[in-house]
Amino acid sequence: MDANKARRFLEALKGMGIEGYFFERKDELTLAMVQREVKACTQCPLSRTRKSVVFGEGNARADLVFVGEAPGEEEDAQGRPFVGRAGKFLDQMIQRIGLLRKDVFICNVLKCRPPNNRDPDPAEVDMCKGYLFTQLQLIRPKVICTLGRHAYNTLMNADARITKIRGQFTEFNGIKLLPTYHPSFLLRNEERVKEALEDMEKLREILKKW
Ligand code: SF4
Repeated sequence: MDANKARRFLEALKGMGIEGYFFERKDELTLAMVQREVKACTQCPLSRTRKSVVFGEGNARADLVFVGEAPGEEEDAQGRPFVGRAGKFLDQMIQRIGLLRKDVFICNVLKCRPPNNRDPDPAEVDMCKGYLFTQLQLIRPKVICTLGRHAYNTLMNADARITKIRGQFTEFNGIKLLPTYHPSFLLRNEERVKEALEDMEKLREILKKW
């Protein structure tokens, strides 16, 4: 982990208008430190309705990070990302790459559950996204796979429809990024599963190159 790089990145975040940033000046920033800060976060109203903060989990040095949208009911109850039906589906997608859940890191844009699983509010995303950026900066994976439009649009500062951009590699802060469908969407739209599996094949191929 390169603490200086992380620190420079956090300074850049402030320049992007992310105010009230949680980070305090310390000699070395680690994922565990960030997790402690996030667990205590009350920056947005979701802190009043959540049962738990879902920071994310997995390999802190993963080559591949999956980014979803927000915790759902199961995730909120357990404090872990992607543990319901969609999570089981994501596990199968990961296995198609030839990896296991413990090999990758899995997190969301929002760390707290929006009530009734509604879409994230743009103001909530603005207040929370700095945590995600920091997680990615500290893990520094080779590839990021965004799940659904919210994760892609947050990282790319875009307003794209997932059907238009899925399966096309781009870059976030020098890291390769592949957008694909959210597993919840795939559970409702089985006809799209084939495309998602093609995306997993692309991930398998690109990870083989390193
Ligand atoms: S959603 Fe993010 S910004 Fe809002 S309280 Fe939770 S951790 Fe803080």
